[in-house]
Amino acid sequence: MALFRKKKNYIPIRPAHKNLPSEGPQVPDDMWAKCPSCKHILYRKDMGDEKVCPNCGYNFRITAWERLKLTVDEKSFDEWDMRLVTKDPLNFPGYLDKLEKAKAATKLDEAVLTGEAMIHGEKIALAIMDSHFIMGSMGTIVGEKITRLFERAIEKKLPVVIFTASGGARMQEGILSLMQMAKISAAVKRHSNAGLFYLTILTDPTTGGVTASFAMEGDIILAEPQALIGFAGRRVIEQTIRQELPEDFQKAEFLLEHGFVDQIVPRMELRQRIFELVQMHTAKGWVDYE
Ligand SMILES: [Zn+2]
Repeated sequence: MALFRKKKNYIPIRPAHKNLPSEGPQVPDDMWAKCPSCKHILYRKDMGDEKVCPNCGYNFRITAWERLKLTVDEKSFDEWDMRLVTKDPLNFPGYLDKLEKAKAATKLDEAVLTGEAMIHGEKIALAIMDSHFIMGSMGTIVGEKITRLFERAIEKKLPVVIFTASGGARMQEGILSLMQMAKISAAVKRHSNAGLFYLTILTDPTTGGVTASFAMEGDIILAEPQALIGFAGRRVIEQTIRQELPEDFQKAEFLLEHGFVDQIVPRMELRQRIFELVQMHTAKGWVDYE
């Protein structure tokens, strides 16, 4: 096919050389995003406030503040346990710096935001984890804030709703991070014994010690489409069991099929679904039936 053959005297318009300064038009970095799922390049405005890929429906990772805005009634959020100070018990090199940077970047004190809020007028105790804060890792303060959330929810007889997003336990705090798993689980049990409802929504990514404790302890467990949910990473498992894992392993859809998740709910419908579930489990007068 002569048509597709390279012309002899062909000279590229701009030689592809690494060190040449870019002469192309300057495009702001945040205008476009690549979908991690379908790999399409997307114009950010097309994704809307929900930040959902219009091509494949992947739910992009959003910050705790963005999540809060999408989920609760306007001006209904009352934050709890602000300004708890994260310590550096192991004198881990660079940890305090990392914390300061994360605080400045996310406008959060820690990797979780907790408090009381309303959804269509229904009161809930709410926690939202943020993967932008040291990968949403769970250290002592994250553990303490979530434990207090459950304790206060028991006092106030409130249902608990938690959005999980985490890379697991925070290695910079060593064993103290791992202890949070048991501490929170005990608080979940006390909340459950009080006859109160606990709902978890697993978002991308929910892994490690968070999956191995409170993320999977909800009375009902929802997940966002295509969210990565697991304990150990794929490569670690493959090396351990010496087998190749299926392509969709550790995806929300795979977990739903295998009974670990109750329902996958697109981000646009989450607020309404949380409201329905909370209302269903906190029918007026239930406390008096004890
Ligand atoms: Zn996509």
